[in-house]
Amino acid sequence: MGRLFLIEYDQIPGKNFYLCRLCQTHLAVAQDVLCQTLMTKFGVFEKVVNMLIDGPVHHDRSSNGTTTDAFCTKCNTELGWKYVQVDEPTMDIREGRIVLDMDKLLYWNGYELVDG
Ligand SMILES: [Zn+2]
Repeated sequence: MGRLFLIEYDQIPGKNFYLCRLCQTHLAVAQDVLCQTLMTKFGVFEKVVNMLIDGPVHHDRSSNGTTTDAFCTKCNTELGWKYVQVDEPTMDIREGRIVLDMDKLLYWNGYELVDG
């Protein structure tokens, strides 16, 4: 295994982002969350960092397309999935979008870490 190169955001006021609950690896900035109420505890992201999302592809019943699982690069926790192919895209569900389980994330609100 090579050394892990992790992207880190500045933990400063005015900068809001999400972290892995388990290892606190930085995962996504708040402005890349498109929708957080879609399926209550899941957030749809335009872009994430420090995640492994190149695994096997599964058929996805809800979008009738395919997805691949998304893992934290550092601790390997499964955090969500990425839409690889979507037959009928919606505002939020379309190819390349990443869905993360907010229960597995922490949120830096500019001052402290809180639940995702
Ligand atoms: Zn982690």
